[in-house]
Amino acid sequence: MQLSLGRKLPLLISGLILLVLVAASGAAYVEVERSAWTTANERVTSLAGQLADLTSASVVARGPMMKRVATDTAIRRMLRSRGTGALDTTHGVSEALERLEVPTDSGGAIEIWDRAGHTRARFTGAITAEPDAADDAQRTRLASRESSPTGFDSVRTSPFYSRGDSVYAWYALPISDGGLATGFVAQRAKLARNAASASAERGLREIMGPGIDLFLANATDSLRTTSTGEMSAQPPELESAAGPIAYRDSVSGEMLGAKATIATTPWLIEIAMPRAVVLARTRAFLKRMSVISLAILIFGALLAWALSQQVTRPLARLTAATNAVSAGDYDYRVHIARGDELGQLGDAFNVMATRVSESRAAIEQQRAAAESARSDAVAASQAKSDFLAVMSHELRTPLNAILGFSSLMLDGITGPVTEQQRAQLARIRSGGQHLLALIDEILSLTRLEAGREEVRAENADAFAVAREMAALAEPMAAIKGLALVTDIPAGACDARTDFTKLRQILLNLLSNAIKFTNEGAVTLSVRVASGDVYFAVSDTGIGIAPNDRARIFEPFFQVEMSKARRVAGTGLGLSVTRHLARLLGGDVTLRPAENVGSIFELRIPRYILGTRGLAMDDELHERALAVLPESGAVPLGGGAAIPRS
Ligand code: ADP
Repeated sequence: MQLSLGRKLPLLISGLILLVLVAASGAAYVEVERSAWTTANERVTSLAGQLADLTSASVVARGPMMKRVATDTAIRRMLRSRGTGALDTTHGVSEALERLEVPTDSGGAIEIWDRAGHTRARFTGAITAEPDAADDAQRTRLASRESSPTGFDSVRTSPFYSRGDSVYAWYALPISDGGLATGFVAQRAKLARNAASASAERGLREIMGPGIDLFLANATDSLRTTSTGEMSAQPPELESAAGPIAYRDSVSGEMLGAKATIATTPWLIEIAMPRAVVLARTRAFLKRMSVISLAILIFGALLAWALSQQVTRPLARLTAATNAVSAGDYDYRVHIARGDELGQLGDAFNVMATRVSESRAAIEQQRAAAESARSDAVAASQAKSDFLAVMSHELRTPLNAILGFSSLMLDGITGPVTEQQRAQLARIRSGGQHLLALIDEILSLTRLEAGREEVRAENADAFAVAREMAALAEPMAAIKGLALVTDIPAGACDARTDFTKLRQILLNLLSNAIKFTNEGAVTLSVRVASGDVYFAVSDTGIGIAPNDRARIFEPFFQVEMSKARRVAGTGLGLSVTRHLARLLGGDVTLRPAENVGSIFELRIPRYILGTRGLAMDDELHERALAVLPESGAVPLGGGAAIPRS
């Protein structure tokens, strides 16, 4: 389907705007996304680092509190004494332990260990004699040297470990007495959801921002827990790298994670930020960008449409005007009331239409004049033809009577004539015959000029016809003592033409040649070349002066016109001959003769195409035919038939 310019233009411009918007938004999105990742990377890294520092500080902060227990005399005394195996439940010990913050839930415990990590006293809300053997492994590990952090009197921490459904960790502060390590003040923390931990978590979340999770994890194994004791495994990607790193969590999906070690502890802080949170602002940006782009696109499309209307509407008007003018409505004018190029184009169009209309009117006038002149000429020619035909007819009838009666008298049928009378009658007859020939030629010429002659093509042998014509002219030549020579190739030459007319032409040329030659020979030569047949009639006669050559084909022209005529003739023969030759699709030309005489050459196509001329059924021709000699007998007044001489 071919779209109009009015639609194509806005579509094209809108498409262009869309392309630019998509490209610009795409580039901006890529940039914004990259910066979102950079920001998120920095954020998770710094959050992990800050929280690790905070946690480390809180561990160190436990030191002074635990130290107060460690320096308590009751505790020192107990550690100095040899243990009995049973836990110490004395009042002094209980009081000292009570000074440490009592755990609010049952999972917390405060204990005094000896150097090897064996429990000497235990306080779980109250002093107890019940030992807790399940944590012995943790106790001995923490008491051993490897667990010692930087300084001797700094707080040691155990890795997180799970027991039952809960996660625990031990803090332990070495007790020294007189420069000797005698034992430990130890406190077990339980990570669990309770009022305090929940509010702390809320606070943390507020600091970190929505969607970001914080985990505590062991540096030595893959255990990971939330601050409220919910356990999970560390993502393997983060175990091997410090991050920030993107990974896939089976529960939370695509995440960005970072970790930081908590100084003086075997713990890690892990921060996890969902990809959706990383890209939240980017998505919002994209959304905003899309809305703005859509608005720009709609506005741009409307503007493009309006602009293209501005251009195409006048164009459509100009097209309509052009169509109207080309369809012949020369009074059609366009109205584009604008000062720009289109307005100027409209004005120019109107000027042009006015000019076209004016020149058309002029042409129309000229045409009418030419038409009337032509019809006048046709009428004149018709009148001339009619006149000639009628005149010929009117002349022939009495002429035939004159010829007929003079012949009768010459033959002595009407009675005896004297020699003197015979001579005069012979002159009458010869004058009459000349007049008849003249009338016949005028009639032929009239018919030819009026285009009323018809070509009746038939197939025959052109060479044979040439020989036949030469034979016919031979007696005429013999009378004048001339030789009639033929130069015709042997054999036959199949041709298609009007042979009656060909005979007439050849006879005309031959009789002219004989007429204007007094001694020597007349030659008829024939040749065939490239689809044409050439007949040349040459003589050794008086020739034609160069000045006359151009005029001899004109009707009634005779070379000796002005002088006393030596030979009879009408001056119409060559004119008729040329008309006939052209009717056959060829021509007759006068060729320059070598020394004496003249050469006339007839050229006709060997095979005539189609049939030229009009059918001979019009009234004039009927009338013309009526006076032709072939009509056999010429009726005279009273119905007496006179035979032709
Ligand atoms: P005409 O009836 O006088 O022969 P044509 O039209 O046949 O009329 O010839 C026109 C004139 O051309 C002649 O009068 C003659 O002067 C000249 N002409 C024609 N044929 C020859 C010829 N073979 N040799 C010399 N003159 C010729």
